[in-house]
Amino acid sequence: MTTSTRWLRRGVAALAGSMLMLSFAVQAGAPQVKTQAPGFYRVMLGDFEVTALFDGTLDLEPKKLLTNTTQGQVGKLLDRSFEKDVVQTSVNGYLINTGSKLVLVDTGAGALFGATLGNLRANLQAAGYKPEQVDDVLITHMHGDHVGGLMADGKLVFPNATVHAGQEDADFWLDKANLEKASPEMKGFFQGAMASINPYVEAGKFKPLKGSTELLPGIKAMPAHGHTPGHNVYVVESKGQKLVLWGDLMHVAAVQFEQPQVTISFDVDSKPAALERKKAYADAAKGRYLVGSAHLPFPGLGHVRAEGKGYVWVPVDYQQVR
Ligand SMILES: [Zn+2]
Ligand SMILES: [Zn+2]
Repeated sequence: MTTSTRWLRRGVAALAGSMLMLSFAVQAGAPQVKTQAPGFYRVMLGDFEVTALFDGTLDLEPKKLLTNTTQGQVGKLLDRSFEKDVVQTSVNGYLINTGSKLVLVDTGAGALFGATLGNLRANLQAAGYKPEQVDDVLITHMHGDHVGGLMADGKLVFPNATVHAGQEDADFWLDKANLEKASPEMKGFFQGAMASINPYVEAGKFKPLKGSTELLPGIKAMPAHGHTPGHNVYVVESKGQKLVLWGDLMHVAAVQFEQPQVTISFDVDSKPAALERKKAYADAAKGRYLVGSAHLPFPGLGHVRAEGKGYVWVPVDYQQVR
């Protein structure tokens, strides 16, 4: 090899090296995007199209919130599910297109809970629908993370919809005397319910539900009281396929499947809340039907299997819509 060839080779190598550095520099300079995929997920249920809608997440601290257990026990179960003390907890709603009616179950938090929630309306639009197309809104219960999305900037978000919720929830949460006698930390629950539901009551668009009610062909309300006095689950059926929307029958997957008796401080009456949870788990495991749950990781759709004294949650696989 001649000296000049050697110099040429060194020059080419140095140039290639600096080009490589340049290309790394360009790649590293791309800004990180830091947004998530649009929050909707679709499945077919017989003739019905079901779209799970993501409202966002809420940070919960199960060690502080769970009752009828110990912090040590909760810590162990969280660790087993690779969870830390603060659990990013989904808030999910479900949109059902029966072919003739568009029905939304729960509305997310709207503006009531801050910036990490309140995306349900945007995700409904991303999923190809408009809020004005919704015919009926079914509320599982009147906690702010389920009713807050009914209102935005002082306007009805679903101007053409009738809103349905349990009569006992309306009697409890919309009663001014209850707000007045509530503890300071509980007042917000009443205020959130009133701010979200009362405008629909005033517009003649609120219909309370009493007992088990068939709302339209294939969609039924079933009382499951305890978490709140008028908490309902909604049963959706088409062509022999069944989906039960649980609302807040449970909150912390890592703990409450294994130990259904564990309750949460948000329960208005925790004993019946635990009984309804156990009943719902047993029925879902036996019936092998699809379940949708407001606070299970998005899309919150899956099945329940009995195991030992507890249960196991089996989330749906990500699939094409057929
Ligand atoms: Zn709740
Ligand atoms: Zn909730």
